[in-house]
Amino acid sequence: QLYKGVKLNKQLIAQKKSLEQRVTHDALTGLFNRPAIFDILHKQISRAKRGGLGIAIIMIDIDHFKTINDTCGHLTGDTVLCEIADRLTKSARSHEYIGRYGGEEFLAIVSPYDQAGALKAAERFRNAIACQEINANQTLIPVTISLGVAISTEQETLDENLLLQRADEALYLAKHKGRNRVELASTHDTKDCVESRKSSDLNN
Ligand code: GH3
Ligand code: MG
Ligand code: MG
Repeated sequence: QLYKGVKLNKQLIAQKKSLEQRVTHDALTGLFNRPAIFDILHKQISRAKRGGLGIAIIMIDIDHFKTINDTCGHLTGDTVLCEIADRLTKSARSHEYIGRYGGEEFLAIVSPYDQAGALKAAERFRNAIACQEINANQTLIPVTISLGVAISTEQETLDENLLLQRADEALYLAKHKGRNRVELASTHDTKDCVESRKSSDLNN
C-alpha cells in the first residue's frame, strides 16, 4: 500500500513538472514562451529597482527568414528556428534568459550588465549563429541574426515598455545598417526614438 502511494506521488510530481514545462515553454523551440519571458522581465525590473541595479535586454530577429521558408520550405524553416534557439541557449550564461518573443523573434534578458557587458553578450549570441552554417535536413544554410540592445541603469528608465521600444528601435537600426550586427539603443526618450525612426524612413 505504502509502495503504491509513493509511486502515485512520484507520478503526480512528474505530471506537475511536465504541465509546468508546457505552460512556460514554447512547444517548438523549448525556449521560454512569451508570457514566461515577460514574467521574468517583470521580476528582473522589480529586482533592479529594489537593488539599484541596471537591466539589459536584447531583441533578436532572424535575417531574411522568409527567404529560408520560401526556398527550403516551412519544415526546414522550423528546423532552423530550433537550431538557432539551441545555439542561443548554449551560448547563454546561467543568469541570462532567452524567450521566444514572436514567430522568428527572441528576447534575451541579460541583466545585471553595464553597457559593455550587454554588448559583449549580444555579440556572443550573434557569433553563435553566424559562425557556422546550419545543417537543416542535409542542407547547409548560412543564417544570421540582427540584435538590438537596450540598457537601463537609472530608476526613471526602468520601464518595461520603454526598454522594449528602445530594443526594437535598435534592432530596426541593425537591420537598416545591413543585418548580422548588434546595435545599442541610444538613451534619448521615447519620443526622440520615434522621431529618428520616422526620419530614417523618409531617407529611404
Ligand atoms: P528581416 O531580415 O527584415 O527580418 O526579414 P525576414 O524575412 O526575416 O522578415 P519577415 O517579417 O518578412 O518574415 C518573417 C518570416 O518568419 C515570415 C513567417 O512566415 C516566418 N515565421 C514566423 N514564425 C515561424 C515559424 O514558427 N516557423 C517557420 N518556418 N516560419 C516562421
Ligand atoms: Mg521579424
Ligand atoms: Mg526576420
